[in-house]
Amino acid sequence: MSGRLAIVGLGPGDERYLTPEADDALTVAEALYGYGPYLDRVPAREDQSRHPSDNREESARAKAALRHAAKGAEVALVSGGDPGVFAMAASVCEEIAAGPKAWRALDVEIVPGITAMHAVAARTGAPLGHDFCAISLSDNLKPWELVLKRLNAAAEGGFVVALYNPVSHARPWQLGDALARLARHLPAATPVIFGRAVGRGDESITITTLTEAPGVAADMATLVIVGSAETRLILREGRPPLVYTPRAVEKVSA
Ligand code: SAH
Repeated sequence: MSGRLAIVGLGPGDERYLTPEADDALTVAEALYGYGPYLDRVPAREDQSRHPSDNREESARAKAALRHAAKGAEVALVSGGDPGVFAMAASVCEEIAAGPKAWRALDVEIVPGITAMHAVAARTGAPLGHDFCAISLSDNLKPWELVLKRLNAAAEGGFVVALYNPVSHARPWQLGDALARLARHLPAATPVIFGRAVGRGDESITITTLTEAPGVAADMATLVIVGSAETRLILREGRPPLVYTPRAVEKVSA
């Protein structure tokens, strides 16, 4: 009997962001795997086993979930946001590619979720209204030089950039370095958005400029969106500004 592994996106926090499809996948699961704080978002049930693991144990977690599914079980592996964005879906694919043949016979389903950059963008207007890209600032799995190369290319290409994993205890300086790199290419007044814990009780949104951005606090629960030279603000009386990137670009600047 072949089992099933659903890799389920929980969205950014609030349960209203959990899709009905994700809810169904969690309901039918016999076993739940995931990073502890994400699993805590799923209400406990006596007929479901729970297997929390630590933040950095993605590979071991993916393997454990695959082994369990290969025994014929209905397994759900949860991810914050979308499981395909810097998260568990790629980790599971890596393990299937390197693992026993039996894992290729498993029914694997990826259940999408709302990713952090969409949740943050929606809070502030339409910063991702024109071409954009996403870069993880974690250099645990890639060299920092590659991040800088991609930041150069993104800024030169005129992309709005969503920065995931901007800061952690082990990586305190990367965000400052990344902002300095983007500032080489972009106007000082380029809008920058810090969205922290979006969709949770302690959510906060800060809209600033590229010059001021290094002074804004960020942590592991923060997503940073750096605008392009086209990104602008609509100031409004008594309301936060709307940040947007117009859909049209008329000419290519040199
Ligand atoms: N799969 C997740 C991203 C995992 S990487 C997703 O699709 O959202 C972890 C990074 O995502 C964090 O460092 C932060 O940059 C961002 N992030 C995750 N949840 C967030 C939230 N609720 N608010 C703001 N940023 C968040």
